[in-house]
Amino acid sequence: MSVLSPALSETLLARFGDRFSTSQALREQHGRGESHHTPAIPDAVVFAETTEDVAEIVRLCADEGVPVIAFGAGTSLEGHLTAVRGGISIDLSRMSHIIRVSAEDLDCTVQAGVTREQLNSHLRDMGLFFPIDPGANASVGGMASTRASGTNAVRYGTMRENVLSLTVVLPSGQVIRTGGRARKSSAGYDLTRLFVGAEGTLGIVTEVTLKLYGMPDTISAALCSFDSVEQAVNAAIAIVQMGIPVARMELMDRGLIEAVNAYSNLSLKVKDTLAFEFHGFPAGVREQVEMVKAIVEDNGGADFEWANAPEDRNRLWKARHNAFYAVVSQRQNAKGWSSDVCVPVSELSGCILKTRELLIDCRVPAAILGHVGDGNYHVVFAVDPANQTELDEVAAINKKMVQYAISVGGTSTGEHGVGTGKIAYLRQEHGDAVDLMAIIKKAIDPLGIMNPGKILPE
Ligand SMILES: Cc1cc2nc3c(=O)[nH]c(=O)nc-3n(C[C@H](O)[C@H](O)[C@H](O)COP(=O)(O)OP(=O)(O)OC[C@H]3O[C@@H](n4cnc5c(N)ncnc54)[C@H](O)[C@@H]3O)c2cc1C
Repeated sequence: MSVLSPALSETLLARFGDRFSTSQALREQHGRGESHHTPAIPDAVVFAETTEDVAEIVRLCADEGVPVIAFGAGTSLEGHLTAVRGGISIDLSRMSHIIRVSAEDLDCTVQAGVTREQLNSHLRDMGLFFPIDPGANASVGGMASTRASGTNAVRYGTMRENVLSLTVVLPSGQVIRTGGRARKSSAGYDLTRLFVGAEGTLGIVTEVTLKLYGMPDTISAALCSFDSVEQAVNAAIAIVQMGIPVARMELMDRGLIEAVNAYSNLSLKVKDTLAFEFHGFPAGVREQVEMVKAIVEDNGGADFEWANAPEDRNRLWKARHNAFYAVVSQRQNAKGWSSDVCVPVSELSGCILKTRELLIDCRVPAAILGHVGDGNYHVVFAVDPANQTELDEVAAINKKMVQYAISVGGTSTGEHGVGTGKIAYLRQEHGDAVDLMAIIKKAIDPLGIMNPGKILPE
């Protein structure tokens, strides 16, 4: 049953016209992300175009205690968008205006619905780029809200390091700005960092000020193969420990390479593989390459294949970004379930070994990949969402991975976020600090209308 009163529906319709919709198809599309989680559809969808639109919708919903769920690009993987208590999905995709870019200060301010690909297309002619790249073409607001990262994080950090300030609509409808454009500040509590990663549970981000980077003078990418995942991981750990500033360092196990070859029509050598990208001036890149080659060879790696032309590099990274879909496409009607643990890099080899043991008897197709320079890796499973035995089997493996990662000082989620999927592990990871999180949530959102049922255990 809808939690919207007829009066609220009428007011929203009168104010937003055809930007307010109760169409079944649209609601279904807004009640799920890209993964296996069971959808829960909102009662209506409203397309916002300005901060004032968002503030008005939130104020109207607050008056009736109706939940609001921010929707960016819908690519999240942990059930973040499920309307577990109904309510309104506020779609920010039309908030796609790039407000300002400063080449002098290497920063920009964008509306929250701008996607990373849109931003980078806009920046290309200015010789600038924004490096954070979750595989999907996510929105900047969604990326900020999940504290996303991706393949470039080993060099450029995550959204945590790259958001300078935010405009946020609070659950009361009040609009605030956190932070400013200064690269550092000691002025008061760091509210920007509070909203980065809050998954829309504390407020709705409408504008984001981001750090930008000059396009590197030289970019070079390479693949090299190993006889075992352990060798590849040991090489990656040594590269991190030597402090070599690689821009990307990605692990793909041989199962993943098979899937990627089939999905992206490539003919990569079917072996456990590390993929690298190097950024810098020519001499610096040469030096990085030489050092990495030596470490790779010391660890049993070989067969360097280079992708230096932009089109070859783009093909390589596009294939890597589509790895999730490559695994899922191995089975008809499958959905992807991606684990996402992150550990101190010295623990990575042990964790991946344990994970491989867990996968030996697993009947669900799965592959290992990872942003190994950060100690972050995933197992992507192609599950049949209608088969409870399979879901239970994957859930049990996922749980063991998470528990092991936490036991060695790691986290249940390196980049995908908590959503509904990782709530059960929050207390194990953070202990009594979860109570402080609940106090903060209650203070900012006393009615509990902001994306309820996410992050915090009830
Ligand atoms: C193939 C594939 C590969 C991926 N690879 C990576 C990866 O490498 N690294 C990584 O970090 N992630 C990855 N992801 C996950 C996903 O892309 C990220 O979580 C991304 O940041 C989600 O952005 P979005 O715009 O799609 O957000 P949505 O899915 O729309 O929303 C995500 C969450 O943020 C909230 N939210 C959205 N916009 C706002 C806003 N403006 N204000 C407040 N809350 C908001 C939503 O309510 C929800 O809780 C991948 C996903 C796919 C499908």
